[in-house]
Amino acid sequence: MNLPTPSRDLRGLPKAQLHLHLTGAMRPATLLELAGRHRVTVPPPLADGAGTWAAFQDRYDASRATLRTPADIARVIAEAAADDAADGCRWMEIQVDPTSYAPVFGGLEAALEVVLAGAAAAPIPVGVLVASSWQRPPSHAVTLARLAARYAAHGVVGFGLSNDERGVEVADFAPAFRVTADAGLLGAPHSGFYTPASHVRSCVESLEAARIGHGTSAVADPRVLSLLAERQVGVEICPTSYPPFGVHELSTVPVRAFLSAGVPVALSTDDPLLFGVGLAGQYEICRNSLGLTDTELATVAAGGIRTSAAPEPLKKTLLAEVDEWLSFASK
Ligand SMILES: [Zn+2]
Repeated sequence: MNLPTPSRDLRGLPKAQLHLHLTGAMRPATLLELAGRHRVTVPPPLADGAGTWAAFQDRYDASRATLRTPADIARVIAEAAADDAADGCRWMEIQVDPTSYAPVFGGLEAALEVVLAGAAAAPIPVGVLVASSWQRPPSHAVTLARLAARYAAHGVVGFGLSNDERGVEVADFAPAFRVTADAGLLGAPHSGFYTPASHVRSCVESLEAARIGHGTSAVADPRVLSLLAERQVGVEICPTSYPPFGVHELSTVPVRAFLSAGVPVALSTDDPLLFGVGLAGQYEICRNSLGLTDTELATVAAGGIRTSAAPEPLKKTLLAEVDEWLSFASK
């Protein structure tokens, strides 16, 4: 294979992190420390090959159980933001399903407020996406959408649907996304991980998604690629999330197919706790396993920034800095 000569430091490329789950954002050492303190048993964070979604979910749930206090949440967000910042991240979005934390923190609203306080105290700007689960009823998504809408001016920037997207009717979730769209929040459901391109299409058409979490199956249908390009719907690609589930190998993650079609790609980490690779590492993988050039990597970074919920002046600054990074000769 003819690899490009690595020239520029990818950590110096300004980036937006757009797909990161709260629990999965934990440092492994923090997980072990909190598990010890709160006497929670967790399986090893990086056991070989999660293999099935259920195994992944078990591991994830065990890790979540170590987050017991507002200080725990604030620490995880601060550390995740610091780690991403060291990798060149200048705007981070973190998604959380408050349902999972409500029993510990005293309700949905209280749980969300704990997360928002943590986000506000982080070392770089952090926006919060409230995410319901595809596997919970659409009526619950509406409840969370209303909650998200109430906090639109207080740090919530978007609304999503996480978890396994199989076996449910996409259009049933449209009422929830209407609530959040009316509040000015962007919609970013997971789709196209296990499901075909038609699922991605439904998320764009029925939910008016502004971004798709993963969405990699869309490359199989040129019409769906065109739809994404036409509406400039970004795909949040997290390269290390696919091999454990047999969805893609690192060398077949379809970043270039999206770029060629004019679809914005936002490289992100999903759950660095479980997949073990940070934000700059995802760019390194695209450079080393996919052969992306620095120009393509800069396009990816710009795509993430453009499709983020960052304030417009910050986007403008960061996009200019991406150009600057690219214009520098190798150091
Ligand atoms: Zn995810």
